[in-house]
Amino acid sequence: MLINRDHDTGSLFDPWRYLGDKRRLLLEKSWAAVFREYLLSELPLAEIGSHFSDDFGRPTKDLSMVLGALILQQLHDYTDKETVEAVALNIQWQYALDIQREQDAYLCERTLRNYRRLVIERELDQVMFRTLTDKLITSIGVDTSHQRLDSTAIRSAMRHLTRLGTFVETVSKFLRELRRKHPDLVRLLDPDDWRRYVDRTGEGCFAPATPSQSKRRLPAAARDLYRLVEQFRSTPAAGLESYQLLARVLEEQCEIVENDPDDDPLSRSAPTVIVKAPQDMACDNVVNPADPDTSYNAHRGLGYLVQIMESFSGDDTLEPKPDLITHVAVGKMNTHDRKALVPALSDTQERNVGPLLLLADSHYGSNECVKEAAARGVELLAPIMTTTRTKQGKLTLEDFELNASGHVLRCPQGHEPVATRATSAYLHVRFDESICTACTMGERCLASGNARFRYRRARVRNRTKRLAQQEPHFRDRYRMRSGIEATMSRFKHQMNMARLRVRGMEAVRYRAVLRALGLNIFRVTAYRQATC
Ligand code: SF4
Repeated sequence: MLINRDHDTGSLFDPWRYLGDKRRLLLEKSWAAVFREYLLSELPLAEIGSHFSDDFGRPTKDLSMVLGALILQQLHDYTDKETVEAVALNIQWQYALDIQREQDAYLCERTLRNYRRLVIERELDQVMFRTLTDKLITSIGVDTSHQRLDSTAIRSAMRHLTRLGTFVETVSKFLRELRRKHPDLVRLLDPDDWRRYVDRTGEGCFAPATPSQSKRRLPAAARDLYRLVEQFRSTPAAGLESYQLLARVLEEQCEIVENDPDDDPLSRSAPTVIVKAPQDMACDNVVNPADPDTSYNAHRGLGYLVQIMESFSGDDTLEPKPDLITHVAVGKMNTHDRKALVPALSDTQERNVGPLLLLADSHYGSNECVKEAAARGVELLAPIMTTTRTKQGKLTLEDFELNASGHVLRCPQGHEPVATRATSAYLHVRFDESICTACTMGERCLASGNARFRYRRARVRNRTKRLAQQEPHFRDRYRMRSGIEATMSRFKHQMNMARLRVRGMEAVRYRAVLRALGLNIFRVTAYRQATC
């Protein structure tokens, strides 16, 4: 039976009147007042209420209280036990959640877990983030026309494993689940498998392998992996989650080569299992069976990629308002940042909190991104990537003087070209070879070798943009982008996203989204404290 208390109608008697003036003032300046005043009545009760019957079954907890408690749990990064205690005993929590009845002041850890599972399954965490953030934006009057976008890497609670470690843990996970769910099939196992992969004792055990041993023992572990996959393929164990993982690791990390019976008739029944070289594997392969959703990026390591877009004040003369996160999305580490632009713009524009000017770093600054943003009425201000030649200290087209049609007028040494011409694909330029041969910049110049080079028209357009980015006007507009680095730092360290206690995409997404909302609540609280 559904319980939804009325939190909109005020009480005849103030339930908090027992608090003195000073404690009451503290309460009303805290995050608890922000939550109670702006957010408590905006929770998506209908979405979660549809899971329960209106008039049948045991009474539910007050849905506002439970959903609110789940948000406040992430706001403070509390464990389930701490959350239950806070609901029961903490005045701030009870004030925020408008708890006035004894039966509303208690929920057990299991109830909390059940509601959290329901929220995750129905993706209500994202609904809550959007609805409540929009409410904060309208309540405080935040201008979202100027926003900035960036990404950060976060890691779930998992160990870094070597490839041998991944193989061993995957086999071990399968064997343990097999014994738990299909004890009758354990008799099919080689007794040595259990000793080597689960007990990890005695001869041939993988656990104490040094890095050099690890490389040698990887093929042996791969063969065991293949043998187990084949052995249990046609048994009920093939339906186990850990078996699917076993098969996935085998497919991603190994190559099975069937032996040609003509070459070696004796080896017909034993295909060769070859461990793939690291460069032949995808970045989103299983790196730890404890968290198969995690992926790898050579630049950022293992984990998940979180995209965050937030508002900022574009006019120093106006009253400062808090910067609020308007969009948060969790994805695979191997997804390029440029793919996050359109979802971020779609999400915010659908809610009428989209930007008109968006600042982002060079990963979002491709021509496609700029065009896509412009088509949506957004000016994307992002620098173009630095060229490889610049990183190598060589001269680039930016160092040459060009005319309006893109032809070279002068080289960095001030010499005019001998000839220029244009074809449909390229612009060509040729200098005096005797001058170039004697030039001190010859080694680094585009014209090194034969005193000539060619370039595309698109390269001319990029040159124009790169040069414009060095102008004070661009730098002045772009300087506000760096503010999002502080937000990322707060998101990871103030909101504890750098020390997650969970694994898996859904659990990580749930926390990322609700902690971004929590950061917004803290920011609005700080704003109210500064202005009241
Ligand atoms: S190598 Fe030739 S084109 Fe290049 S800077 Fe020297 S003179 Fe100019």
